[in-house]
Order: sequence, then C-alpha cells, then structure tokens
Amino acid sequence: MKKILFICLMAFHVLSSYSQTRIIAHRGFWNCDGSAQNSITALKKASQIPVYGSEFDVLMTSDGTLVVNHDDVIGSDTINLTPYARIKETKLNNGETLPLLSDYLQAGKQLPETQLILEIKPHLTKELEDRAVAAIVKMVNEMGLEKQVEYISFSMNICEQLVKLSPTSEIAYLKSDIAPSVIREKGLTGIDYYYKVFDKHPEWVEEAHKVGLKVNVWTVNETPDLQKMLDLKVDFITTDHPVEAKELASK
Ligand code: MG
Repeated sequence: MKKILFICLMAFHVLSSYSQTRIIAHRGFWNCDGSAQNSITALKKASQIPVYGSEFDVLMTSDGTLVVNHDDVIGSDTINLTPYARIKETKLNNGETLPLLSDYLQAGKQLPETQLILEIKPHLTKELEDRAVAAIVKMVNEMGLEKQVEYISFSMNICEQLVKLSPTSEIAYLKSDIAPSVIREKGLTGIDYYYKVFDKHPEWVEEAHKVGLKVNVWTVNETPDLQKMLDLKVDFITTDHPVEAKELASK
C-alpha cells in the first residue's frame, strides 16, 4: 500500500512539474529554411515541430475572396478595395503564391493534430467585417473544421459576429484593453493579449481563469519573457520562436 502511495505521489510530482502552457507558432513556423510568414509551408513546418497550433491572418478582397496575408496592403493595393485577380500572383518570400484561405484550410485539414488559429484582421467597415466573418465561418463549417479552427481578432465587432454565427467555437480578443469579466459577458472564450499588458494587470490571468476564459499571449520571443509567461501559467504562448518556447515550456 505504502509503495502504491509513493508511486502515486511521484507521478503527481512529475506531472505537476510540467507546464500546462502550450505553444502557438505566430504566422506559422517561418523562421527556418524554405519558409515564409503565413505560407502553407509555415503551417506544415509548425505541425512537424509539433506545436499546439499555427496562427495565420485572413483578409477579404473587394470581390469577396478570402486570402491569407498579414498586412492589409499588398504593394499599393488595399486588399479590401482590390479584386483578387489583381493580387493573385503575389509571391511570398519563399516563392509560394499568396494562399487562398480555402487552400490553407485544406492543407490544415491534412494536419489534424495542429490547431488552426485563424486571425480575422479588422476590415475597413463593419459591413465588410460582417461579410468576412459570415464567409469564413461558412467555409470552416463546410470543410468540417469547426473543432480544429480557433478564432482571434483585434476587432470586437468581429468577435461579436463570431459569437453569433459560431457560438461553440473558441473565440479570443486580441486588443488587450478589456478586463476578463467583460470579455466573458460578451460570450467569448478567451483573451489573447499582448504579454506586456500583464505587467500592468498581472491579476488578469487568474481573473480570466476564474471566469472560465483561456489566456493566450502574443508575441513572446525572448527567453526571459517566455519564462515570465510560463511562470504566470498562461494557457498558450504565441511566438516567432516555437522550438525554443516549446523546449522551455517542457522544463
Ligand atoms: Mg496575426
């Protein structure tokens, strides 16, 4: 009996010494050979590490096409105001062509162990944001990716549209300016905040957990900052250095 108790205590000790924090590759794993930010290659490379999730940014063109790109401008063309045909040949730094969201999600579907952290960028008007959210949710659901896709946005309007159209999804707000209790009242499932905000509001991690929200932080790249976030026991760290972050989180 004593022996069993000892083994249980040891197992508990080993398990509890591991961090629960999981790692998300910011714009995929792009900081390596042959990759580029927001490329399908970066998604595949993130899944090979492996990490919990791979983040990417989505914008809608003037004719309703959904593309994966961080900046709202390509060259001198504002994506929201530009038809897809005009930007479709755009090359990423690794030579890959500007990905369509549909192609990106199709690639993600082949990597079911990797969560797809889909950031919907703010669009020029509320109407455009509402159209983009409706089109994205429709595509995700039609592809059967409701569980694999998690949504994030800096736009509260986008987050609120997501709560309406996809109420069982994981939805987190990025702008880092609203207390967790208010986020909970709006029906979101998490906060995904700039890590330095927790210098001012270290209580927000515990407050978020108390009301049942997940806590993600962006974009944490330096070892001391990564360690600080691990010590705060956030649920997720979004980083440009997913290999190093994962190694640190496993210590
Ligand atoms: Mg992003």
